[in-house]
Amino acid sequence: MEVKKGYSDRSFGSMYLSEDGPNEESVRNRGRFFDSIGLSGKVVVAAGPVHGIGTAFVHAEDPTYIPGTDALITREIGVALSVTGADCFPIYFEDSATGVIGLAHAGWRGIVGGIIENVVSGMITVGADPANVRLHVGPGICSRHFEIRADVLGYFSDYPDAISRVSHDGHTTYHADLRHVIRCRSIAAGISDACVSESDECTFCLPDRYYSYRRDHPSALETQLAYIIMTG
Ligand SMILES: [Zn+2]
Repeated sequence: MEVKKGYSDRSFGSMYLSEDGPNEESVRNRGRFFDSIGLSGKVVVAAGPVHGIGTAFVHAEDPTYIPGTDALITREIGVALSVTGADCFPIYFEDSATGVIGLAHAGWRGIVGGIIENVVSGMITVGADPANVRLHVGPGICSRHFEIRADVLGYFSDYPDAISRVSHDGHTTYHADLRHVIRCRSIAAGISDACVSESDECTFCLPDRYYSYRRDHPSALETQLAYIIMTG
């Protein structure tokens, strides 16, 4: 099974899709990006993320925008799954032995809430075997740029190695390494450590390449697009 996946950069412009209806500029940008990666004319299904842990199963005949969900799964060849994000991580799942793919939009709430486990268990219900699943973590925010408030620390109590304390001018800030938590939870969900790979790119660190919500605080969301598709 051939699987193709990727992530846009800001040279294509923002990929953000609003629930309020298509924004003309985003639709144009998405079209340009899809042309460049050979997805023009294919079914591209988009999740409308809400920082939850909801997962939807996708079929070619379904609507191409699924609101209120952060992850998509399909068994269908030629159907592309897509999520948008700018600091949150795209997480790509593939079991090429049984032909099941998934894609998640994962910020800290989704990660500690169980989105990885939800995708893996959803993939199992349609025939995947976690022993075959390969998981790739795309670009997202690094721990240096991901400061968390003290009242959020408790959500990371199982992952002390993910938390760093930085003291400056008499006050302390806390930072979370979300890639580390993703890896821990992926392994706990049954994926082998050797089958987890990750990009080291930080969306905040690379202003020429990526939009970053925490860096830019845009009045209208600007996002990258992640996609995965089985091509045959
Ligand atoms: Zn960074």
